[in-house]
Amino acid sequence: MKIKTEQFTEAAKKELANTRTRAILDAIASMVGARREFAMESLADPSAALALGRAIRAEAIARMPELLEEFEKNAIANGANVVWARNSAEANEFILKCAKERNIKYVTKGKSMVTEEIGLNKTLAENGIEAFEADLGEFIAQLLDRPPFHIVGPAINIPVEEICDIFLRRGIMKEPTLDPVALGAAARLYLRDKFHHLEMGITGVNMAVANTGTIINVENEGNIRLTKSAPRTQVSVMTPEKVVPTMRDAIHLLRLLCRNATAQKISAYVSMDSGPSKAGEIDGPEELFIVIVDNGRSDFYADLHAREALRCIRCGACMYECPVYMKIGGYPYGWAYSGPMGQVLNPLLLGLARTQDLYRACTLCGQCKEICPAGIDHPKMFLSYRAKDVVGDLSYQGVKRSWKESRFFDLLTFGMMRSWRWNLGIKAIRPFLNKASKNGSADKTRTPLRGWSRSRDLPPVSEKTFRERMKDGEVK
Ligand code: SF4
Repeated sequence: MKIKTEQFTEAAKKELANTRTRAILDAIASMVGARREFAMESLADPSAALALGRAIRAEAIARMPELLEEFEKNAIANGANVVWARNSAEANEFILKCAKERNIKYVTKGKSMVTEEIGLNKTLAENGIEAFEADLGEFIAQLLDRPPFHIVGPAINIPVEEICDIFLRRGIMKEPTLDPVALGAAARLYLRDKFHHLEMGITGVNMAVANTGTIINVENEGNIRLTKSAPRTQVSVMTPEKVVPTMRDAIHLLRLLCRNATAQKISAYVSMDSGPSKAGEIDGPEELFIVIVDNGRSDFYADLHAREALRCIRCGACMYECPVYMKIGGYPYGWAYSGPMGQVLNPLLLGLARTQDLYRACTLCGQCKEICPAGIDHPKMFLSYRAKDVVGDLSYQGVKRSWKESRFFDLLTFGMMRSWRWNLGIKAIRPFLNKASKNGSADKTRTPLRGWSRSRDLPPVSEKTFRERMKDGEVK
């Protein structure tokens, strides 16, 4: 999947005009929103549970380096192989080598955001290895080559007609049908066949427990469990922030994750694996590789502001609350991570220069922060990205201000240092703003300005200043 984050604004405009997107998002909001609250209320003390979850994530990130070492030690003691990859290329290279050495022709994959982040499917495909997404939504999105529309329902917006069409074209079924159950059954039959001779399965990791060396996966379809238990070789790909101190902590986070993601008290399947299968066990892989891919996280870990993004447990609750995401859905974000979660993470992973529209597309309403079970202060992070952008913190992922922009801000600062300069300046530019208003768009009540107002409108500027209007008795 090609990263299209730079096209955020254009794609968002397109989705804004898409009535189907709006209808689906409205339905998701009414379906999950109330049920999520209900699920949270089932906890003995929801606020205390939320506070504990936030404290666990804060501790896990603060102690991340030592917890990762502890996890590695215990995972190896359980019989797993732990592989460290500095970036996507190293992770992909290792997985590819692993597959080639075992003469693997295809793999099945459980739903995993990190493998989307590193572009694993593409690498495998380029080297003749087919990757079958085993989650139904991901499978459909993969066939259509689209990014996930939603973290929980990656293809929830795709009309059944389109699914039927692609299933027929790809030979997944022979007879057309618009029955969603029949479509699901066709995909199930097609994918189930892949598991019969499966030699290698690849999944992500929801949590990695340091004190037991256990990896945990959460899902509702059972495809991750099959992918983990059917093949001889299992590869679990994770990023460093998945580590949590203890099993007790993991269990508590599971309570919050399931309630926030799908409004369930617990998801249908929770798999906990401590190493490959042991002697006498029927299920489970003979060998387990845990690939820990850093992909730039160590670079921003040193920044106390930025590292807060690593707390995310990918529940998606912030999306349901976000007035921007709930109008445009996941496509405009153009990558694996969307909604407030993507707005926080993508700038750190892709660089501020490539993601300016993302961290600016926020009303700073703070609903995401309110709801986040991991305790991320999204608005604070967006403001810090904007500040870095404006002050031109060049040590931070290469944001550069143009000469014109620099002169503009110098002039603005000079003007704002004395009130008389400011008043004089405002008086001087007022006629130009008014002229722009009159010559502007069809809507003469708005002032179209280029640049800043590319996606915003300003009310027209009054002919007189507030003080002048007070003086003339126009303001009571
Ligand atoms: S940022 Fe918070 S609310 Fe959003 S997905 Fe991550 S943990 Fe969930």
